[in-house]
Amino acid sequence: MNTAANFATPACAQGEILPSARKAGAVAGQCARVALMLASSVCLLACQTVQTTRSGAVGVERSQRMAISSERIDSEARQQYQQIIQLEQRKGRLNANPGQLARVRRITERIIPQTAVFRPEAPRWEWEVNVITSNDVNAWCMPGGKIAVYTGLIDKLNITDDELAAVLGHEIAHALREHARERASEQAGTQILANVIDIIGAAKGIQGAGKIASTGLQLGIGLPNSREHETEADRIGIELAARAGYNPQAAVVLWQKMAQVGGGQPLPFLSTHPAPGDRQNDLRAYAQRVMPLYEKSR
Ligand SMILES: [Zn+2]
Repeated sequence: MNTAANFATPACAQGEILPSARKAGAVAGQCARVALMLASSVCLLACQTVQTTRSGAVGVERSQRMAISSERIDSEARQQYQQIIQLEQRKGRLNANPGQLARVRRITERIIPQTAVFRPEAPRWEWEVNVITSNDVNAWCMPGGKIAVYTGLIDKLNITDDELAAVLGHEIAHALREHARERASEQAGTQILANVIDIIGAAKGIQGAGKIASTGLQLGIGLPNSREHETEADRIGIELAARAGYNPQAAVVLWQKMAQVGGGQPLPFLSTHPAPGDRQNDLRAYAQRVMPLYEKSR
């Protein structure tokens, strides 16, 4: 995979050292220093600190360090999305119920214009919304606005429009905040570190030490969300739903339903969404805060 992180691997990392123990130590030390310098300069060149979204009424403000471009993440997501959609279509599991699809699209179409509050350009993204026939209680929005809702989420939770808006708002918020890109950037940082460990490892005769330290760069799509990302998605999602005319209190009920239907079994949705104990309180407080927006939008 061609990434900025790969630039941190100088040629001397690939095994041309170790002609003699003493010389190897000196060369490896030099290599490690070079790698560290490269790693930090790659970050200086490639990492940028950004604010992906405006703060909105819920006041989400946190600057993010990005080492990978939006374009790269979005294009990867576009390809992955297409592959998933084509596969599901071949299996006859795509948009099998026109009524369900129309319902999900209608709610999404009301939320999308509200994204302008956080990102003025977001309503013009190439949004796509599809429903996949599956028992999984799951939904996601890939970077750039590629959405999938699983029928298990709709059927098993006997989900209301307000609750569906809460799920969609939450998932769309992850995309607006570019959380996947942020996680991928963290992984890229890990990869740079792994390269340095490889070089140090090579000096000590341990091959692939860096590989043990890191399983490599992933694009942050489908990886578990951090608690911080979850809280941001909860708050922004609640505001999006409220502005679109959906009762923000539904978010509280939604997570309760999720916990119940799980019944000790790990739900795919919850496995990528760690639910902290204080989540309910946070949802309640922020739902209250955006109630005036909901009242105004009705
Ligand atoms: Zn989430």
